[in-house]
Amino acid sequence: MKRELGIARCGLACCLCSENATCDGCSSEQCHDAARCENRRCSKEKGVGHCYECCEDCRKGLLSKIKPYAFGLFARRYGEDELLNCLERNEKQGIVYHRNGVFGDYDEFDDAEQLISFIRTGKR
Ligand code: SF4
Ligand code: SF4
Repeated sequence: MKRELGIARCGLACCLCSENATCDGCSSEQCHDAARCENRRCSKEKGVGHCYECCEDCRKGLLSKIKPYAFGLFARRYGEDELLNCLERNEKQGIVYHRNGVFGDYDEFDDAEQLISFIRTGKR
């Protein structure tokens, strides 16, 4: 885990992304999706660092997907530091963020609250 890369504007975990060998995270301008990322554009326009800092209940762009949406909800509720703490602990316990391409253990949920509980406890 590259904790210093933190969480992307949308909520994805740059710190655990399999592409972080060549991408220094969302704020580095190196993400290959940067130019077309709606969350990146919108959050910059609104002057917030992340979508979870925005007061709108929004499912635009990557927030239409359960993983960044739930990660963002978690960060809004408990803070980004706590999210990183949980992700770090879970990784040490064998939970893999990108196990198969961009699919991993956090992608096995279709309910945001269940995913948040998994992040918190490391248990399904
Ligand atoms: S590819 Fe996207 S999610 Fe992965 S490290 Fe880069 S900015 Fe973060
Ligand atoms: S409106 Fe949506 S995309 Fe824009 S900053 Fe807020 S949460 Fe992010």
